[in-house]
Amino acid sequence: MDTFRILVVDDETDFLETIVNRLQKRKIDATGVPTGEAALELMKGKLFDVVLLDVKMPGGMDGIEGLREIKKMQPLTEVILLTGHASVETSIEGLKLGAFDYLIKPVKFDELLEKLAAAFEKRNTQEQKIRSAKIQELVRFPGRIFDQEKGEE
Ligand SMILES: [Mg+2]
Repeated sequence: MDTFRILVVDDETDFLETIVNRLQKRKIDATGVPTGEAALELMKGKLFDVVLLDVKMPGGMDGIEGLREIKKMQPLTEVILLTGHASVETSIEGLKLGAFDYLIKPVKFDELLEKLAAAFEKRNTQEQKIRSAKIQELVRFPGRIFDQEKGEE
């Protein structure tokens, strides 16, 4: 199995550290950042399979805005929203915008692991579909791929 790369974005640093530590103990490549801006900055240089994203963060970027930007930068990355009971409506909006799922705080760790695994599986399935579509294209139209590559120069 490939390495499972998870980014956790939450302004509550205790929560953030706890989740990241518990994931790392399970040999998952987990990174934590306290803001949406920091998440996007990190995503410029590293691909993540799943982002756990708090919807309520003080300051600049909220979860929904973060979700939009993450999907723009890494469309195959699955996003799971972290919400409080009061912000379930935001989660519904997030689901419409392409979030994989949401979790209500306080988060049960087992439930979190289940959702992360499901999101990882979806991401891998999508990646495989893209890979096989590219291979089909190459088999059927070898010239087309070649032309595209030339066009990108
Ligand atoms: Mg928060």
